[in-house]
Amino acid sequence: MSKNSYHWGLVPFLTAVALIAASLLFSVSYPPNSFPFIYSVFLPLSGLATSLILIITGHFSYPRAHNRKIYVAAYTIGFIGILFFLLHSFPFIPQLNNPPQGFFAVILLTQLVNLLIFPLLSSYVKYRFARSTMLTMIVIETVFLMTMRFAPSATNWVQYLWFDSPMSFNFWIGPTVFLAVGALSLWKVSDEFYLGGVLSGCSLFFAEIWVLGIDINRIEPVQMVLLNITPLYLSIGILVHGFCRMENRVCYDPLLKIYNRDFCSKIISEQSKFDTSPPFSIAMVDIDHFKNVNDTYGHQAGDTVLYAVAQTVNNSLISQGIVCRYGGEELAVFFPRKTSSEVSKLMEEVRADVEKTKIPAGKKTISVTISVGISQRENPTQTVMDVIGAADKALYRAKNGGRNQVRSGKVPVN
Ligand code: GH3
Ligand code: MG
Ligand code: MG
Repeated sequence: MSKNSYHWGLVPFLTAVALIAASLLFSVSYPPNSFPFIYSVFLPLSGLATSLILIITGHFSYPRAHNRKIYVAAYTIGFIGILFFLLHSFPFIPQLNNPPQGFFAVILLTQLVNLLIFPLLSSYVKYRFARSTMLTMIVIETVFLMTMRFAPSATNWVQYLWFDSPMSFNFWIGPTVFLAVGALSLWKVSDEFYLGGVLSGCSLFFAEIWVLGIDINRIEPVQMVLLNITPLYLSIGILVHGFCRMENRVCYDPLLKIYNRDFCSKIISEQSKFDTSPPFSIAMVDIDHFKNVNDTYGHQAGDTVLYAVAQTVNNSLISQGIVCRYGGEELAVFFPRKTSSEVSKLMEEVRADVEKTKIPAGKKTISVTISVGISQRENPTQTVMDVIGAADKALYRAKNGGRNQVRSGKVPVN
């Protein structure tokens, strides 16, 4: 399996489940009656802080992760978090502290609608599109929320959303949005380094806050805790996403989805410092007459063939060695603690596998063969480049010997 083939984000999602359980435990252990300071001063202020942190994280993620979903999610969830804490529970301006009864429901509904929108946004767009999406959503939502907060009777319609038990239809608005976000994220964002799980986790937080009740006069302690944690969770999710994406960019070849040459050289030189004895081996793999594939079927079909060969080699060897793209259509495989005769047997199987593989490219299927050259390090005076050089010479002999074969060679003694 190539390492970057699936990234929905089960771990971040399960973290959200654990954080909800922890929040419930926290609010039971520290009830508002005994700890009024936490709920009337600390959580409103820290909620402002976590929402601000979220906006900052999203803002600075952009040139690095370059993803509209993240940028818009961080700004809108963070901005509405700030509006909520300022307009509902900000401790130092009491005039702001009597919002209309429906205000909490409106805030939650806005966040749930936002979460439904994120998975539908395409990710990699020009910065000005990301920025205009974000500004449009924030302006519309701010005008809407300000109207709901300050215009008389503006929240009257919210009475149609009230519920007092799971028997009520409205209770299920939160969980339904959560399920919809989960489904949309599986469909739309599964390849974006854990963003699917992070966005689903976020919607689980808001679904949980929803089912706990939407009456602003009876905001539960656990709801205050969750409103604090959600922006922090999303911030950390964004950082993890950005980090994994960068790591992937540095280490993997984007076309073949195996390690690139830089990364491979780095691990080979690191490992060769430790594994001087027993020896390590290197196999160089080159596709036979690959120019003909490009000339006959076109460059795009060539890319498909190259990808299929790289995946076949990688899948067969993933538990034995480290496969990387060494050059155009040349792969290098590093085998720690294996002799060249052990590697010969393995590579012979891989050669046969590739020969059997029928690669669909458009309406046709294409078959190719590979030639392989192998060498092993005999002693610590030999450098990695010496071994690669000897494997290259063996590859050259395999080509001259008629191709579609595996040859081994020794590093010459100086
Ligand atoms: P040989 O059996 O001697 O290896 O013959 P060959 O035609 O495979 O010769 P060589 O290995 O020198 O060919 C390299 C060719 O691979 C040249 C280049 O057009 C093609 N190539 C290199 N990288 C890519 C790539 O990323 N995509 C495609 N489609 N072709 C590539
Ligand atoms: Mg070739
Ligand atoms: Mg070549």
